[in-house]
Amino acid sequence: MSRVAVYPGSFDPITSGHVDIINRIARQYDQVIVLVAQSSQKSSMFSAEERKSLIEKSLSHLQNVKVDIFGGLTVDYMKKANSKVIIRGLRAVVDFEYELTMANMNRKIAPEIETLLVFASPEFYYVSSRGVKELALNNGPLKDLVPECVIKALDEKIKK
Ligand code: ADP
Repeated sequence: MSRVAVYPGSFDPITSGHVDIINRIARQYDQVIVLVAQSSQKSSMFSAEERKSLIEKSLSHLQNVKVDIFGGLTVDYMKKANSKVIIRGLRAVVDFEYELTMANMNRKIAPEIETLLVFASPEFYYVSSRGVKELALNNGPLKDLVPECVIKALDEKIKK
């Protein structure tokens, strides 16, 4: 049986923290699907297609990772993809309550699916998409915080 893990998130945009989690998970599973959430409730800087394309460019070194866009419940996508593991990243304590609530909600609606929390590496625990956008909007340095293609995309987006 092939082991498939799904890593859902906004990825608006993908950061080096996300890339680190994906690199580490890709070693543990046959396939990792990075799932870009297309939410009608959350406004984003990049469209779902743009976010997908930036993730693909950032992960071109990994053969067993694919990127998909989904607008519904993650657990519904999981059934379609035949996966039983949701990956989420944990940075500091502030992430914990949100992740615990989400994991329990998902357990309630799909008990066969497990949420696996992966600790951020120490060098990335402070990196967030929101922080990166704030830096970009104020001409702050982005080196090492996001992949090169994201620096370029942020630059173009902000110039527009
Ligand atoms: P969401 O809006 O679903 O929280 P994000 O794109 O912000 O989407 O994050 C997706 C997942 O990646 C979340 O579980 C989040 O905690 C985790 N994450 C975000 N930044 C980092 C980081 N620097 N290191 C490890 N995990 C992270």
